[in-house]
Amino acid sequence: MSTPMPTTTRAALDVERIRADFPALHQEVHGRPLVYLDNAATTQKPRRVIDAVSRFYEYDCANVHRGVHLLSQRATVAYERARTTIRKFIGAADSREIVFTRGTTEAINLVASSFVRPRLEPGDEILITGMEHHSNIVPWQLLCAATGAVLKVVPITDSGEIELDRYEELLSDRTRFVAVVQVSNALGTVNPVKRMIEIAHARNIPVLVDGAQAVPHARIDVRDLDCDFYAFSGHKIYGPTGIGALYGKREHLLGMIPYQGGGDMILSVTWEKTSYAEPPHRFEAGTPNIEGAIGLAAALDYLDSLGLDAVAAHESELLETATAAVLAIPGIRLVGAARHRAGALSFVMKGVHPHDIGTILDSEGVAIRAGHHCAQPVMQRFNISATVRASFGVYNTIDEVQRLVDGLHKVKEVFG
Ligand code: PMP
Repeated sequence: MSTPMPTTTRAALDVERIRADFPALHQEVHGRPLVYLDNAATTQKPRRVIDAVSRFYEYDCANVHRGVHLLSQRATVAYERARTTIRKFIGAADSREIVFTRGTTEAINLVASSFVRPRLEPGDEILITGMEHHSNIVPWQLLCAATGAVLKVVPITDSGEIELDRYEELLSDRTRFVAVVQVSNALGTVNPVKRMIEIAHARNIPVLVDGAQAVPHARIDVRDLDCDFYAFSGHKIYGPTGIGALYGKREHLLGMIPYQGGGDMILSVTWEKTSYAEPPHRFEAGTPNIEGAIGLAAALDYLDSLGLDAVAAHESELLETATAAVLAIPGIRLVGAARHRAGALSFVMKGVHPHDIGTILDSEGVAIRAGHHCAQPVMQRFNISATVRASFGVYNTIDEVQRLVDGLHKVKEVFG
């Protein structure tokens, strides 16, 4: 028997109206209405984003920053306006602090190459945590291999929280940089990044925050956080894939060497000497993802129009309800039970491989993620190879949580 569930959420969001904005939600999967609970991997897109991207291709398609003709001017205005939308959305002071990237991964690699690398001597240290996504691990491993620097890792507790006292201890005279995830995609843990930044800054150590899983679920203010860099991806916040942003404090960006060379990032090129454009264009070599930037801005406008506080309240209610209901199923254990969680619920079921759970849920029309979630060290920390992860978005409902729970009961029936 499944656990009874509240029928409505407390939050002041008209979720049915919101669902109507997302065409992909209205389809059947294996003969069942789709329940999409893989939002931490990527989100579905509202009509407004799809239309903004189509509109670009239908009317404004031209390259940016180059043409004197009208279409190119329109494309440039829309692209630079998107930068301003992002600036406002994350509370940055200056649009020149926003660099368009392919996503969080590229943003972190950019900072590793252009900001951290020139500052490193052999034996210097970079500090990350034990709950990072591979995209906030491997760039630093590559950098350490190339420079002789050392990667240090703050351990996490059994409930999936950062050991803050160990964090303080691990900051040493050799620490040159800290990179930390704000919300873990594997555990859902919300980290005390503001406090961690304060602690690092007391030692003059700059900090990058991986906000990939944070921006969709809470209002972010980079000035309040006082982070040096902030990275996020468009596709996890209802925008297109292949676009994201790096926020960097202006004084840092101004002193950084280019990440890639090419068109659009120079002031002048001669055989003798090439000089570079000012940030952010210095870091945007080549034709950018113009329609992606426009689509991302449309997504942020859309989320703003719903009210981020209401969105956050709705999602936290879904998470709380799902956590209680899933835990009530015998044999299920949560992986990561931090006091502050957002977005995602990770668990294992005794005697059943997460991939089998994923396959059975899929046959019931419920899309979740089963695997290591690109966070293998987290799996190693908990001595498991994979988890089942249900992750929530603005359009999910309590009825859908019920469908997840019903599906899990089905799994139990199949596996006896
Ligand atoms: N960090 C976190 C916490 C993530 O969840 C992800 C995506 N799963 C990334 C970084 C990488 O994002 P992207 O693949 O969009 O670059």
